Amino acid sequence: MPALRFDNAFVRELPGDPEQGPRRREVRGALWSAVTPTPVAAPALLAHSQEVAALLGLAEEDLASPAFAQVFAGNALLPGMHPYAANYGGHQFGNWAGQLGDGRAITLGEAINAAGERWEIQLKGAGPTPYSRTADGRAVLRSSIREFLCSEAMHHLGVPTTRALSLVATGEDVVRDMFYDGHPKPEPGAIVCRVAPSFLRFGNYQLPASRDEIDLLRQLVDFTIQRDFPHLSGEGEALYAAWFAEVCERTAVMVAHWMRVGFVHGVMNTDNMSVLGLTIDYGPYGWIDDYDPDWTPNTTDAQGRRYRFGWQPRVAWWNLSRLAQALAPLFEGVDALQEGLQRYADTYARCDRENIARKLGLARCGDDDVVLMQDLQVLMQAGEIDMTLFFRALIEADVDDAGMAAFEEAFYDTAKRDAVQPALRAWLTRYAARRSADPLSADERRQVMRLANPRYVLRNYLAQQVIDAAEAGDPTGIAELLDVMRRPYDDQPGRERFAQRRPDWARQRAGCSMLSCSS
Ligand code: AMP
Ligand code: MG
Repeated sequence: MPALRFDNAFVRELPGDPEQGPRRREVRGALWSAVTPTPVAAPALLAHSQEVAALLGLAEEDLASPAFAQVFAGNALLPGMHPYAANYGGHQFGNWAGQLGDGRAITLGEAINAAGERWEIQLKGAGPTPYSRTADGRAVLRSSIREFLCSEAMHHLGVPTTRALSLVATGEDVVRDMFYDGHPKPEPGAIVCRVAPSFLRFGNYQLPASRDEIDLLRQLVDFTIQRDFPHLSGEGEALYAAWFAEVCERTAVMVAHWMRVGFVHGVMNTDNMSVLGLTIDYGPYGWIDDYDPDWTPNTTDAQGRRYRFGWQPRVAWWNLSRLAQALAPLFEGVDALQEGLQRYADTYARCDRENIARKLGLARCGDDDVVLMQDLQVLMQAGEIDMTLFFRALIEADVDDAGMAAFEEAFYDTAKRDAVQPALRAWLTRYAARRSADPLSADERRQVMRLANPRYVLRNYLAQQVIDAAEAGDPTGIAELLDVMRRPYDDQPGRERFAQRRPDWARQRAGCSMLSCSS
């Protein structure tokens, strides 16, 4: 293994828990606890991301060496690593949950790459920590494959996200009750190595605030600004305000991307919201097949469907409001925090319009175009139309004669197709008129649309097929699917099957349309 250079600022500069090791406990007055990964029986590297390896300066030989699987399964540490679990809280499904913390994630260290960039390296599923509560600190293969693939797929789609370096099988079983129905069974275990400039969440700030540990809160905010937002200037309240506004802005940008590509996070609890505006904690997430703003993949949230696709922008706002509440002790009044939240609303509105313009191939989005998009969304929902296939077909469709043939593949239900067709024809006629009045040339328009409307997304059933094969002993599909997702906006001849709409068998299949938090 090459020497990675570490600069572990978080543990060096911020107060830690005096007790070491994984004994479950409440940790007050400290932001982290030292804890080492628990070794596993038989580490085997199943997949890796060549882009993340390159970011860290790792060569292909490093990845192939047995030492790599040992380190990234948590069986060995490299010089300079200082493993710890972070202490944080969070609102889960709208309720304050108190201390949560990294119950199965262990940060190994902050690596500094050749370009001087800081990349925190974290193992998910590396064994118990003080924050594991009643759980085992492990992760199953199926959810690890999902996190590994989606982190990288999102990156290649241009969506801010944490990254994934590696996926390692542990050679050990993990017992999970997948549907919480009293039928636990052993499943293969795995560990994902996640990489991000920082994994700090809204909940890291909420927990000290909830305990009235205001000095600790201030220390963490000062540290975050210095390490992760060094471009911000000013001091005191003005600096804090600029920071909070930037968190709001980044969150808006991230959520707008989710809405553009049809991603449903599934568990937007405040402990799963990054202050860097990165998509974080891939659990029961899902991708929109037929356009349905009311859909959530998360069966744990089936009742209220709080985290449904169409509610993500407002949930992000609610979560930012909880962060604002936590930061309030650092401010004299509430005006600066209100302004931050307004920045969220303004940025989201701007990004939403950009999405509309780009998805429809217009130079800019006017008020009428917002209505045009909304009307289309109503039709897509009523007609059960595949979001990804529809927008991709719209690029080449000959809308002047309102031809419907181009959209054939995007329909799931012929009766619904027939019912919606007249209204869709009328919409296409409107769109054709709008398009011909637009300053973009046909070529420019196609280019804009191709870069906003992916051909390949990590459809739930595609990930599940790869999981089924891996669980049966053949992990080769993971690398193949990752390779498709590396160029989501390109037509990839020979890979048409990865762009197909959800097959009927996947409609109600566990893992495809229904996922639980059990992972
Ligand atoms: P999540 O819903 O995955 O964001 O997890 C919420 C909380 O539960 C976090 O504090 C996690 O660290 C913890 N957690 C989830 N799964 C496990 C597990 N298998 N072992 C220990 N802690 C876990
Ligand atoms: Mg989480």
